[in-house]
Amino acid sequence: ERRQLNRLRREPSRTTDGVDIKLWANSESLEDVAEAHALGAAGVGLYRTEFLFMQRPELPDEEEQFRAYRDLVLGMTGRTVTIRTLDLGADKADRTGLVLRDEPNPALGVRGVRLSLANSDLFDAQLRALLRASGYGPVRVLVPMVSSREEMIGVRARMDRIAAQLRADGCEVADHVPLGAMIEVPAAALALRGFIDEIDFLSIGTNDLVQYMLAADRNNDALGDLYTPLHPAVLRMLRNIIRLANARNRPVAVCGEIAGDTRFTPLLLALGLGEFSLHPGLLLEVRNKIRHCDLSRLRAAAPALMCAHDRAGILEWMREHECATG
Ligand code: PEP
Ligand code: MG
Repeated sequence: ERRQLNRLRREPSRTTDGVDIKLWANSESLEDVAEAHALGAAGVGLYRTEFLFMQRPELPDEEEQFRAYRDLVLGMTGRTVTIRTLDLGADKADRTGLVLRDEPNPALGVRGVRLSLANSDLFDAQLRALLRASGYGPVRVLVPMVSSREEMIGVRARMDRIAAQLRADGCEVADHVPLGAMIEVPAAALALRGFIDEIDFLSIGTNDLVQYMLAADRNNDALGDLYTPLHPAVLRMLRNIIRLANARNRPVAVCGEIAGDTRFTPLLLALGLGEFSLHPGLLLEVRNKIRHCDLSRLRAAAPALMCAHDRAGILEWMREHECATG
């Protein structure tokens, strides 16, 4: 089985009807990056920078961050690297004292871009490090927990100002560093039409989007089946985000866990998704699945999927469109 999959290292992630799907890697370490590179990932679709902040009591400074991001960029040898700005919060606690510990509702608190905008020195240092790394290869900057147009405008203004400063100081910064938003807060998804012009690319964070849509904590096992993407509201939301992004020529990926779960591959393709970002250890399995999917048939079956009224209906569609790998 593994040997069979290993043969796919150099093969394209192409559907039976000839459409290439982009597979990005979610990476936390240089080992992940090496693996992603060897497996033929299009690039890194999600690098979670909070890991640099969670390991020890002191904050990494600009220089340390710069070296980490530069090494990541160099490791991918010209393939694009998508680096997410800090996504810390009381639910992803650090040991640095940056995060408020007594928030009554951590998942709804000062996390992600909210924390960055509230700590401008810290945010500036991260953006400087990211922009400096862009001098070494293609970098995209991804912003987590976006809930409004204003936040994206604020981040872009800050990034533009810092890029201008760096260039004035003689530092090499890429001419264009695409700025993207994680779509993981329902309000951002629903208001997307009004601020997609502020976004160069999108990454759908289904782990959080599901949690916030269904009011079901992603880490609470007592909720059992209640935390699930198998809900008609979630599918409708995904379809609308993907449709809008495609219509406006904004690259859109899913980077939550479902992107690496082959049970969901045909469903996501049916919804029009052309990019997946997943753990490198799952990349070949998903590539194999894609190579057994007939995209035009799946797209034609999307209306039937959208008619499902409940979990059972969605599961039935998934059984009928399993795209078995043999
Ligand atoms: C997500 O929310 O789906 C996501 C990819 O980000 P994280 O799991 O880091 O919150
Ligand atoms: Mg998230």
